[in-house]
Amino acid sequence: MINEPLRIAGEKVARERVIEVRFPYTGEVVGTVAKATVEDVRRAFEIARRYRPALTRFERYRILMKAGEIIAARRDEIARLITLESGLCLKDTLYEVGRASDVLLFAANQALVDDGQVFSCDLTAHGKSRKVYTLREPLLGAICAITPFNHPLNQVIHKVAPAVATNNRIVLKPSEKTPLAAYLLADVLYEAGLPGPMLSVVTGDPREIADELLTSEHVDLVTFTGGVAIGKHIAAKAVYKRQVLELGGNDPLIVMDDADLDEAATLAASGSYKNSGQRCTAIKRMLVHTAVHDDFVERLLAKTRAVRHGDPLDPATDMGTVIDEAAAIEFERRVDEAVARGARLLHGNQRRGALYSPTVLDRVTADMPLVAQETFGPVSPVLRFASIDEAIALSNATAYGLSSAVCTNRLDTITRLVRELNVGTVNVREVPGYRLELTPFGGIKDSGLGYKEGVLEAMKSFTNTKTYSLPW
Ligand code: NAD
Repeated sequence: MINEPLRIAGEKVARERVIEVRFPYTGEVVGTVAKATVEDVRRAFEIARRYRPALTRFERYRILMKAGEIIAARRDEIARLITLESGLCLKDTLYEVGRASDVLLFAANQALVDDGQVFSCDLTAHGKSRKVYTLREPLLGAICAITPFNHPLNQVIHKVAPAVATNNRIVLKPSEKTPLAAYLLADVLYEAGLPGPMLSVVTGDPREIADELLTSEHVDLVTFTGGVAIGKHIAAKAVYKRQVLELGGNDPLIVMDDADLDEAATLAASGSYKNSGQRCTAIKRMLVHTAVHDDFVERLLAKTRAVRHGDPLDPATDMGTVIDEAAAIEFERRVDEAVARGARLLHGNQRRGALYSPTVLDRVTADMPLVAQETFGPVSPVLRFASIDEAIALSNATAYGLSSAVCTNRLDTITRLVRELNVGTVNVREVPGYRLELTPFGGIKDSGLGYKEGVLEAMKSFTNTKTYSLPW
């Protein structure tokens, strides 16, 4: 069994009080992590604040590349660890480890790119023969990063790698449900040469340590990925600190009447069931044109029946458990409620502990809580529409605005959807979650404040732009 102490500035700090981490499939305890005190968190921030990183671009590049190599070499072991703490199947966690290597590769390469700009000043009638130059500097204070359970490694690396690439100091608090991958990543980075004070990892009970994480005078920026409720709490609490909030989603797949239905159903199933439906960009609503509705649903059902769900450690499994039994019970309750209100259950809604089967319902209406709220699990609710206006109205009739997917080949339809969907991303003939780890990613409305993540955008938000002007 793994027993992880805190990592404060690279030092292992054990604590008597611990949090148990369980394998959701069996309920067995697979590890423990130390429970930080407020004093631990304070010390991590104080050290971070005082430390002034002086790594050259080349040194940052080398550390990030080396960490990527170590992770790639330990891919199977790391995937297994994530499976044990999350219940995600090995297919999902192997994919996650691969994505984490991509993040490190992109961050390493971006560390080499000079991010300054030059502006000539003789551009207008009252201009001068001077130049304004910009450069990006790390924050003066520390970064506080708080991450969710659903991608235990990738959510963490999307905050830590850009911080390293920009010479910042970061204190990470991973989800107490899936903290083991975060500690492993910290050790990999130290092994790759990262100075200890640039990264601390603390785990604990948010009720005890959240206030210190959000209000410490040593923190300049809070970067948070998680649910809307906690995101809004953070927005109210972390006053006069830069905030990057990546919150929940309720992403639609819009299937138009000209769509390739087999492709649409394939995207629907993978967008709904990958990672046990626990992706902020999972497909949460399938909006289907009435002309192709029945055909689409038949194909979706066939693909859903083909999903092998069960033991997350079996390499043949397509879908493991959800995070815990409480989450599975909640999905079951919401589906039952939708059925009581007129939806038709076509497949699934079977539960055993934290194992919840892929589930398809049609005749779902927008007012049902199953789709009005974020249902963070492997459920495919199908709604109908009769015109593009109705599809846009349905899609936008939610508090969320993260991403979306559109199945059509008509450029006029695509143009309207790209312009009129109130979301951060529109993917044509791809799942809403499709992206490069480098490219801008993030939502609007309740899904986020519009500041993006992705390695490039994170590096921008983790730095201050300084301008200086010279007479030549
Ligand atoms: P959550 O909001 O319950 O928890 C997220 C983190 O917040 C955890 O580390 C938790 O310990 C911490 N936390 C709890 N109480 C806190 C407090 N009072 N102050 C500060 N931090 C506190 O989310 P979750 O259940 O772990 O993750 C699922 C949610 O994350 C879903 O809503 C999903 O859509 C969202 N998510 C969003 C994105 C995105 O990029 N937009 C990506 C992944 C997940």
